[in-house]
Amino acid sequence: MSVAAAAAPVDVGAGGEVTALDGAGTVGSQVVARAAVPARLRGHRRPVRAPEQHRVAGARVVRGPREHVHPTAGGEPVQPPDHRGTHVGEVDQMHECGGRVGLDALQAPALGAPAVPAALPVGRLSYSGLESYKRCGYRFYLERALRLPGGHVAEQPVRPGPGVTGPSPPAESPSPLPALLRGSLIHLLLEEMDFAVPTVPPAERVEELIDAHGEEVRPADVNDLCSMVERFAASPLRRRIASAARVRTELPFAFSLEPDGAGGRSLLINGVVDVHAVEDRGVLIVDYKSDRLGERDPALLTAEAYETQRLVYALAALRAGHDRVEVAYCFLECPEEPVASVFGTAEAPELERRLVELAAGVVSGSFRPSDRPHLALCAGCPGQPALCSWGPERTLAAEPA
Ligand code: SF4
Repeated sequence: MSVAAAAAPVDVGAGGEVTALDGAGTVGSQVVARAAVPARLRGHRRPVRAPEQHRVAGARVVRGPREHVHPTAGGEPVQPPDHRGTHVGEVDQMHECGGRVGLDALQAPALGAPAVPAALPVGRLSYSGLESYKRCGYRFYLERALRLPGGHVAEQPVRPGPGVTGPSPPAESPSPLPALLRGSLIHLLLEEMDFAVPTVPPAERVEELIDAHGEEVRPADVNDLCSMVERFAASPLRRRIASAARVRTELPFAFSLEPDGAGGRSLLINGVVDVHAVEDRGVLIVDYKSDRLGERDPALLTAEAYETQRLVYALAALRAGHDRVEVAYCFLECPEEPVASVFGTAEAPELERRLVELAAGVVSGSFRPSDRPHLALCAGCPGQPALCSWGPERTLAAEPA
């Protein structure tokens, strides 16, 4: 596989603006596909004045006249006058007389059958999309290419099927606030922080946020969220951000890849970084994590769950022209010990190679169900009730050991 140069990557270090996210590959494929229609039909006899038919004249594609149905004409087709010099019928008569027109007349076989690359299943990918593809290719396809809505989320796992064993379902979270919402709320609160003069938000502000998201306000959740802010405010990482030359939060980025097999079209990789701080020695990217660590080692968790994200962040900053980028994962249960990795320009080709490798299945259209279906993976999947090749004895079971 090869990697083409970026098509105007976003300068996350300078402007903070996102390049046009309009999927050039998609537009290009539409143009090629339209031009291919008459090429396939070339030489076929077609009825005179067939609506929506295409004709080829030289290298130009022209449309045959349309039939219009006037609303007051009782449903009868009304033919508008054809003002062109040559009617479609006349063209067909030329064929009947042995005359040759368009590409036939030019004897241009090279133009007769252009290769039409298939459209990419998706034109853009975020790191979460890549992670989703890694977990289950078929679910990725259903949700991100077909955009099917999520399915029913089972409350409890069913008994594992024959030959499937697994641990008990995870213990209930000590906080009733859903993990996704908990993560969103802490990001909102930290976004409001002044790094130079940090303060812990008043309980009323936290209650207001929880209530605005339709959740019952519980003191335990308010304390939990305030504690995370307080720990981060007291951390060396917060002080380091405060001393940076320039700090931006919630900064979007995008850059493109042109993997082999994509027919020359690019795949846009996009995302948003929590904190982007420009320092003397390079750029620091901070990502807040609200994961409940328990006994887990933050470094191992980062390697297992956030490796793709780290790769994408590093490449985005290097593509933007920074020579050195440090990506720091700040677990808000222990913000004093961020998991940091440093990357330099020399590593950019290897990062690109790995990213292209990760995206290869998406580009080639390989969308297979996971080999290890289980409740935690399959809950809410639009394919789980009926489309997936796995049955409920596997998709609603506990995770296999
Ligand atoms: S039910 Fe599970 S294995 Fe099947 S497509 Fe959905 S996530 Fe993948």
